[in-house]
Amino acid sequence: MSVLGKTAIITGSNSGIGLGIARVMAKSGANVVLNSFSERDEDHKLAYDISKEFGVDARYIKADMSNANDCRGLIETAGVCDILINNAGIQHVAKIEEFPTSKWDAIIAINLSSAFHTTSAALPLMRQAGWGRVINIASAHGLTASPYKSAYVAAKHGVIGMTKVVALETAQENITANAICPGYVLTALVEKQIPDTMRKYNMDRETVMKDVLLERQPSKEFATVEQLGGTCLFLASDAAAQITGTSISVDGGWTAL
Ligand code: NAD
Repeated sequence: MSVLGKTAIITGSNSGIGLGIARVMAKSGANVVLNSFSERDEDHKLAYDISKEFGVDARYIKADMSNANDCRGLIETAGVCDILINNAGIQHVAKIEEFPTSKWDAIIAINLSSAFHTTSAALPLMRQAGWGRVINIASAHGLTASPYKSAYVAAKHGVIGMTKVVALETAQENITANAICPGYVLTALVEKQIPDTMRKYNMDRETVMKDVLLERQPSKEFATVEQLGGTCLFLASDAAAQITGTSISVDGGWTAL
């Protein structure tokens, strides 16, 4: 079975990895639901453009993934959810003793708790359909740590733990739950870290990219949104029907170190 005619909801998908995954899914014939917390003409235009380009149903639903009711509301408004891709995420970089509590709370809410709320709301729809895929976009930071990223590392480790629980609770129901652990992908989330890192290490942009960001990525290349979309397609395919409760690294060898 392919994703043709299935509906994929991708949280945090008006930019970066989420948008890239949505485009790959739509190209393979899935209907897609895009999401973020904003409600701008350009958000809806992204969905319109996907529907025109790939001939699928595509829509944008505003829902703030830091809010439990919005998370559930996203799934309820969509009404159908064969493939749930929990992707929304933010980052903040600071020493733990200087880490603002508000940032800790926001990162845990958006990067971890949102996946709990959406999964809890989506599983009944998947059970009704007799098929489902939960794909959580974790991170290499779900398997390893870096300094100054306490909330992000905690949230991403949490996502991988929760993925295993969802897999066990759905193991006999034609539903799988897996995490994808990207290394560095050059998106807005990574771009935002560059100025701070340049200041912290007194380096120029190129040196930060090569010697700091890609320092732990042995391939010395960024992973791409298309590669992550392809990994989602694989996890949604029949070939992956017995793959559940695990995580797949797309990190150029980072976690092999
Ligand atoms: P990005 O900043 O380009 O995208 C993040 C998305 O989340 C955006 O669409 C944004 O609108 C959305 N979002 C943020 N707050 C939200 C909220 N409150 N409610 C709804 N949506 C919200 O970043 P990205 O790099 O594409 O990150 C996507 C995911 O991939 C994140 O979970 C991130 O942790 C993970 N990731 C990224 C990298 C990387 O190198 N870029 C590496 C590993 C994991």
